Amino acid sequence: MNVKSTSRYVLDNANQIASVGGDWDRFAIENDAPDAMAGAVIGHDVWDFVTGLETKAYLSTIFFACRMDMKTFQLLYRCDAPEVKRLFRMKIYPKAGGELLLEHELVHSRKSLAHHKVTNFTDHYDSTRCSVCCSFLIGSNWIDTFAIPEERYYVVCPECRKAAADQLRAEQDPDDVIDLSQFIK
Ligand SMILES: [Zn+2]
Repeated sequence: MNVKSTSRYVLDNANQIASVGGDWDRFAIENDAPDAMAGAVIGHDVWDFVTGLETKAYLSTIFFACRMDMKTFQLLYRCDAPEVKRLFRMKIYPKAGGELLLEHELVHSRKSLAHHKVTNFTDHYDSTRCSVCCSFLIGSNWIDTFAIPEERYYVVCPECRKAAADQLRAEQDPDDVIDLSQFIK
């Protein structure tokens, strides 16, 4: 897929999907996910589509910081298809009234030549995976593979926590009472 695609959606102040736009439906069709088409997601709670308590807490802190500071936030994350490595950029724009505009732009995609399987690491593989960069926790290391195991337990790996915490800290006003980055690291 060489075409750059961007999908957008707006969350209301209660984190419900108020509208979707951009290449949303095309992306849903290309990824064989008709259940994710606009008509099926509008009005739903965004947390219905986020897997893992830790990932929800991570995103929730970022959303809270964006709304409180009225500043944009961006984050690179991986969302791989079975044989395609894909890198996306998520930008969050706070709007009036507590709304957030979220934009997901495909910045890089590459078809994998060899299909790397995490099952090659069966001795160490424990199904823990970072929901931001797609790395698996294998032994004590976070490893990027292309595998899709049967069961996944989504968390956020230390590298991705640090990147988000650093960004929140860099954008903090000196008179902020709470250092929000402490909730992410
Ligand atoms: Zn990560």
